[in-house]
Amino acid sequence: MRSGRLSIRARLTLWHAGVLTLIVCVFAAGILLFVHARIVDGLDRHVGRALTTIDWVYHHEPDELQDLASESGIALFRIIEHGDLVYQTEGWQRANLSRALPDQGRPPESWKANDGHHYRVQAIAGPSYSIAAAVDESSLRETFWMLVGILAMGVPFAAGLAIAGGYFLAGRVLSPVGAMADKAREITGDSLGERLPVGNPQDEFGRLATVFNDTLSRLHDSFDRLRRFTADASHELRTPLTAMRSVGEIALQAPLDQGKYRDVIGSMLEEVDRLTRLVDSLLMLTRADSGAARPEREVVELTALAGNVAEHLRVLADEKQQRLRVDASARVEAVCDPAILRLGLMNLLHNAIKYTPPGGAIDVRAKATASGQPSIEVQDTGPGIPAAHHKRIFERFYRADPGRARDSGGAGLGLAIAHWAVAANSGRIELESEESKGSLFRIVLPGR
Ligand code: ADP
Repeated sequence: MRSGRLSIRARLTLWHAGVLTLIVCVFAAGILLFVHARIVDGLDRHVGRALTTIDWVYHHEPDELQDLASESGIALFRIIEHGDLVYQTEGWQRANLSRALPDQGRPPESWKANDGHHYRVQAIAGPSYSIAAAVDESSLRETFWMLVGILAMGVPFAAGLAIAGGYFLAGRVLSPVGAMADKAREITGDSLGERLPVGNPQDEFGRLATVFNDTLSRLHDSFDRLRRFTADASHELRTPLTAMRSVGEIALQAPLDQGKYRDVIGSMLEEVDRLTRLVDSLLMLTRADSGAARPEREVVELTALAGNVAEHLRVLADEKQQRLRVDASARVEAVCDPAILRLGLMNLLHNAIKYTPPGGAIDVRAKATASGQPSIEVQDTGPGIPAAHHKRIFERFYRADPGRARDSGGAGLGLAIAHWAVAANSGRIELESEESKGSLFRIVLPGR
């Protein structure tokens, strides 16, 4: 099976067990090498000491050679002088150790006798004689191989333990992922308010769950906004449709003269007009949301732009006998998309005319802010906007005074469009207004 098909739990377990087994193997091999070296070294020193003792006894007290086995425990040796055998122990002869005799001067070697015993054998040579000695290493060998057996059995045991422990641990460590997956499976568009469980917010899974939860919060907000937008849009669309229907129904109830019919058609056209503006605004915001309206940057002279927008709407101000004044004293330049900015300014100025009572005054001026940024201000002497509404006034369909705004034909989208138009030009809108003290909207744009 390819490792990609294994679960993370299985992969973690295998890695854990594999690495642990490797460590145990290396450790066991190290122990064996060390113990083996120590055994061989001990044996060689033992043979070396025996040879020194035999050499001394042979040269100083040759009669004592027989007593060496009983008194010093040196039971395996042989002495040759001028090619003739001078002395060999019984054990040496029994094990036939002469066959194992290494070349003189060579390091000691291990040799296996016919009786199955192993011996460590070494020889030294004088001018006319040679002495060879051996020690039985069988019991040490047995102990060593027993150790090999124990360690060899321990490795699979350790591997088994590592697999079981690793599987258990991986299960515990990964359990938050399972809980997150179970919860995530339950979350639908209707239950976006629910959140994934966060065990420990400091660990990796906790951070992952927190990031998912933040994403869910944003999705929740977007869904909520979308739902509100759809509900508000339907409501706004229904109002003019209902008005047209009732006007039409009343007109059909009884025959009317020509003038009355003209009035009916006129008021229906007014509603159609309102509908058209609403649909245009909705389309505008939808395009803005989808990113279809891409601003193009160029250097724009703001006083000229403000004058142009004011001239366009002057007829509305004149209708209400309002004084609309554009301060053309300064020359202010900004880098922005003139068409999009124009749309934003148009909405602000249109609002100023709409909400300022007849005979009021509206001032439009382009100027640099205290920090040197280009800006356009629209100031009116209208009813003002209470501070409580400032935070939400740029939201879609939000009206500070619903009754008054609806009467004036507003759907609560003008400031939302203005806000988008300015933000799309990397600028911001500031509002300074108090109830019954007029309003000042300031568009602040990036400079050149
Ligand atoms: P509307 O289409 O209702 O005018 P806007 O988004 O343009 O929607 O404005 C939102 C609300 O802000 C309006 O309903 C109105 O209450 C308030 N408003 C906007 N501009 C002004 C202004 N110049 N003076 C007073 N109130 C304003």
